[in-house]
Amino acid sequence: PTADALTSLDPALDTLRRVFGYEEFRGEQRAIVETVIGGGDALVLMPTGGGKSLCYQIPSLVREGAGVVVSPLIALMQDQVDALDALGVRAGFLNSTQDAGQRRAVERAFADGELDLLYLAPERLRLDSTTRLLEQGRIALFAIDEAHCVSQWGHDFRPDYLELSHLHERWPDIPRIALTATATQATREEIATRLDLTGARHFVASFDRPNIQYRIVPKDNPRRQLLDLLRTEHDGDAGIVYCLSRNSVEETAAFLGAEGIRALPYHAGLPAPVRARNQAAFLREEGLVMVATIAFGMGIDKPDVRFVAHLDLPKSVEGYYQETGRAGRDGQPSTAWLAYGLADVVQQRKMIAGSDGDLTHRRRLGAHLDAMLALCETVECRRAQLLAYFGQQAVPCGNCDTCLAPPESWDGTIAAQKILSAVYRLDKERNQRFGVGHVIDVLRGKATPKVAQWGHDELTVFGVGEDLADGEWRAVARQLMAHGLLTVEGDHGTLLLTDASAEVLGRRREVRLRKDPEGARTRAAARAR
Ligand code: ADP
Ligand code: ZN
Repeated sequence: PTADALTSLDPALDTLRRVFGYEEFRGEQRAIVETVIGGGDALVLMPTGGGKSLCYQIPSLVREGAGVVVSPLIALMQDQVDALDALGVRAGFLNSTQDAGQRRAVERAFADGELDLLYLAPERLRLDSTTRLLEQGRIALFAIDEAHCVSQWGHDFRPDYLELSHLHERWPDIPRIALTATATQATREEIATRLDLTGARHFVASFDRPNIQYRIVPKDNPRRQLLDLLRTEHDGDAGIVYCLSRNSVEETAAFLGAEGIRALPYHAGLPAPVRARNQAAFLREEGLVMVATIAFGMGIDKPDVRFVAHLDLPKSVEGYYQETGRAGRDGQPSTAWLAYGLADVVQQRKMIAGSDGDLTHRRRLGAHLDAMLALCETVECRRAQLLAYFGQQAVPCGNCDTCLAPPESWDGTIAAQKILSAVYRLDKERNQRFGVGHVIDVLRGKATPKVAQWGHDELTVFGVGEDLADGEWRAVARQLMAHGLLTVEGDHGTLLLTDASAEVLGRRREVRLRKDPEGARTRAAARAR
C-alpha cells in the first residue's frame, strides 16, 4: 500500500501531514490526540514550545463540530486565527477587542457549522449569551488552554476560569482537554479537582530544557553585569531582559541603547500601539533585546531567543521557569541568567506583607518566594532542583553554574550567631526600626551618626563582625533569610528573628553558607586596603 492509503486509515496522522505539514507526532502528541478523538478527557502538562496547540487542533478537525478553546491570551487570538486561516483551517474568536458586527459574524459562522475552532476569552464564560450561542452549534471538544489559571495556588489565577465547571455540567459528554506549561504536583491536583477532570488521562512530558544553561549570580552592579554577559557571550543575539518595575525597564533599555545594544522597552504602562510595534520588531528583526516586565512573553513564539536575563528576583519558581522557557525554543544552546541580591529578598518580603488578601494568600506568596530563594541559594545542580520542584527526577546536568563551577560552602554558624544576636539586641529598642544596613554597621563597628544617636557603640555586639566585609555580611543576611532564619517586616525593612533563629542562637543548629564569588572579591579588596 502507498503512504497515502495508509494515512487515510489514520485521520489524526493524515491531518497532521495534510493540514499542518508535519511528518510525525512529537512525544505524547499522538496518544493525547487519540484520547480526545476517542471522546476521552486529557490533562496535558508540557513545557512551553512542546507543541500543545496541535493536541486540541487536530481533534477539533477530526471530530464533528468546532473545538471550543478557552484561552486568556486575548492579544494573540488574532494571530492564532490568522495562522490557522493560512493553513485552510476555519477559525474564529470572540473577545472584548471586537465590535458587535465582528462578533456577530463569528457567532453566525459557528451556528452554521462553518468553524473548526472557536477561541473564547475567559470573561465570555460568564455571559448567558455564550451558553445560548454554544447551544446553536455543534461542539467537538472543549480545550482549556493555560489551565493553571484555574488554580488559586498558582501565580496566575483567573476567577473566570471557575466558570468552566458550568460548561462541563451543561455538556457532560463533550471531551475536554486541559493544557498547561506550569504544573507542580499541587497545581496539577488543583486543576484536576476544580475542572472535575479526575477521570482524565494525565500526560506529563519532561520539563527539562537541556539546551538552556541556568545561571544565578549575586547581584552587584546589575546593569554592568548584564552588559558583560551580552558583550562576552551574546553579542548580536536576540534576548529578553526581565525587570520588576516599569521604571527599571525604561532605564535599562536606555542604558543598553547608550552602550550600543539595540534594545526596546515593553511594559503595561506603554501605549498599546508602542507595545505592539516593539513586540512586532522583536519577533521580526534579528538580534533585538526586549527589556520588559513579565507582561511580555506569554504565547510569544520566537524560536531563536538566545538568552533570558532577570535583573530582579522572580516571585515564584513557576514564573522563573516560564520566563526562562522562552529561551532556546529552537533547541540551540541558550542562557538563563539571573542576578539576585539581598535587596530583592527584602523588597519581596515587604511586597508580600503589604499585599491585599488574607493570611492564607500571603502564606502562599511566602511559600512561592521561599522555593525561589532555595533555588538561588542551592549548592546542588540548578536543573535538578528546578525539575524536583515539578516533581521530576534528574541527575546533575553538567550545564548549569553549580555543575560547571561547584560553589564552595563555609561554616557560617558563628557569623549567623553574631548577626542574629545583633538583631535581637536592636529589636529591644522597641520603637525604632533598624534595617539591614544599620545592623551591619553595628557589627562592623562603624561610627555612623545613627550609631551615635542610639548609643549602639555601647552594645556588646558592636564591632564583633569586623572579620567580614560589608558585602559578605549582606550575603550572610540574604542566605539566612532564604533559610528562614531571619525575616523582614514593614516598610522600613526591619530585621526580625524567626522561630528557627533560636536554634542557631542556642548553638543547636549549624549553618552552612554558600560562598559568593562576588563576596570573595569584596573581601580581597577589603584586605588590600
Ligand atoms: P506550546 O503551545 O506547547 O508552547 P506550540 O503548540 O506553540 O507549543 O508549538 C511549538 C512549535 O512546535 C510550533 O512552532 C509548532 O508548529 C511546532 N510543532 C508542534 N508539533 C510539532 C510536530 N509534531 N512536528 C513539528 N513541529 C511541531
Ligand atoms: Zn546542573
